Amino acid sequence: MTKETRWNLDNSYARLPSKFFSTIHTNLVSSPKLVVLNESLAKSLGLHVEALQQEENIAVFAGNEMPEGASSLAQAYAGHQFGYFNMLGDGRALMIGEQITPQGERFDIQLKGSGRTPYSRGGDGRAALGPMLREYIMSEAMHALGIPTTRSLAVVTTGEPIIRETDLPGAIMTRVASSHLRVGTFEFAAKWGTPEELKQLADYAIQRHYPEIEDDDNRYLNLLKKVIERQAYLISKWQLSGFIHGVMNTDNMTISGETIDYGPCAFMDRYNPVTVFSSIDREGRYAYANQPRIAGWNLARFAETLLPLLHENQEKAVEMAQDVLYGFSDLYHANYFRGMRSKLGLFNEEKEDTTLIEDLLNLMQENEADFTNTFRSLTFDTKDCTKLFESEEFASWQEKWEERRARQSESKSESAELMRNSNPGVIPRNHRVEEALKAAEDGDYGVMEKFVAVLKNPYAHTPDQEPYTKLPPESEGPYVTFCGT
Ligand code: AMP
Ligand code: MG
Ligand code: MG
Repeated sequence: MTKETRWNLDNSYARLPSKFFSTIHTNLVSSPKLVVLNESLAKSLGLHVEALQQEENIAVFAGNEMPEGASSLAQAYAGHQFGYFNMLGDGRALMIGEQITPQGERFDIQLKGSGRTPYSRGGDGRAALGPMLREYIMSEAMHALGIPTTRSLAVVTTGEPIIRETDLPGAIMTRVASSHLRVGTFEFAAKWGTPEELKQLADYAIQRHYPEIEDDDNRYLNLLKKVIERQAYLISKWQLSGFIHGVMNTDNMTISGETIDYGPCAFMDRYNPVTVFSSIDREGRYAYANQPRIAGWNLARFAETLLPLLHENQEKAVEMAQDVLYGFSDLYHANYFRGMRSKLGLFNEEKEDTTLIEDLLNLMQENEADFTNTFRSLTFDTKDCTKLFESEEFASWQEKWEERRARQSESKSESAELMRNSNPGVIPRNHRVEEALKAAEDGDYGVMEKFVAVLKNPYAHTPDQEPYTKLPPESEGPYVTFCGT
């Protein structure tokens, strides 16, 4: 089996102190059926696509069989959930190891929805088909948009119903990640580990994600800097695409800088900074406009965990951490405005650019303009009959923008090309995602396959994107997302 599928697993995480995980006896599921396989991802991991689809190998995606060299563990972590600290851990996920690719890269392979673990608390450890397919669609769309993210290799149905408000088909998703190390993993180590164990975790994170700082004098301060840099980049990418994560708890923030946890996320349609989709986020803590600030808050929690490693004098350590944390906002804004300039076809930087950008966003908000389609229309100079494009204020904004573009040395066509590569034609619009999930739950996976194929090339601007660019009918009302199903 192993030879054919080319699973090539190592278990470096399992070599950390045993406090960081629990070994799991897997729960067998009755009749696993492969419903989606990410062939291009499988290939890039060095796996054999045809072999993976054979029945005895599908069992691996269900946790019923383990490839040679696999581990079977759940990771321990803690986290601030909506501001409150809790002990957490993989309550419904099983790590089977790290796939070493033919290029020598290392990716965690985790089965999500595979049954109870010691960290399940009251949960059943299971997942429903809809949310697992939703994560598949969303994370693959994010990857195609060029946003760092964990990815989805496969979804299997288990053949077993799971009990929610109604019975739902059970499913397991295979998640692929640079690692599953989270801010919450460090919070766990700082709270319940020895100083030595914390250091081992930090060294492990450095080795996996930032080997270039391994020999630095103050490598733990540099670890903080690196994570801040990656997160400043990631969050800017979210803002630039209108992505709302929905549950930015510290256990859902990775050390690698990849997006993780696709529970309640959604893309914004009409531009409005206070947009929230998640049913449980009643106070709008994780609203679109709050994401950068919350990231900063989470990074401060991360910095706190590292204090014992920064300096023996804790006052000095706090000073060092604060200096670095203050840099987050500037880094974020630099990334964000660089990205926004690209979206407007601007190559160089001028002082007034931030005003130009903010003026446009304000007009978009006032006129309830769709975030993605507005930039797409600007890219192709196709002003459909929207409130925004018909307004006088927009006409005068456009004049300023044209003047600004004319002032740069690059040609208009170079500017247009930059815009085509910076403004996606398609995003996973909420009503389209729901439509694909509904069809899949009724046994028709064709709708989802077609949708995922289009989402793979968001910057291609080909005619097959057109049907996916339309907004939902007004009658559908506000979109609401749920986590934890
Ligand atoms: P999340 O809000 O998705 O980040 O999840 C928070 C915590 O709840 C994590 O520790 C999850 O592993 C756990 N969890 C979520 N759903 C379940 C479930 N069905 N059974 C057990 N644990 C769960
Ligand atoms: Mg989570
Ligand atoms: Mg979740």
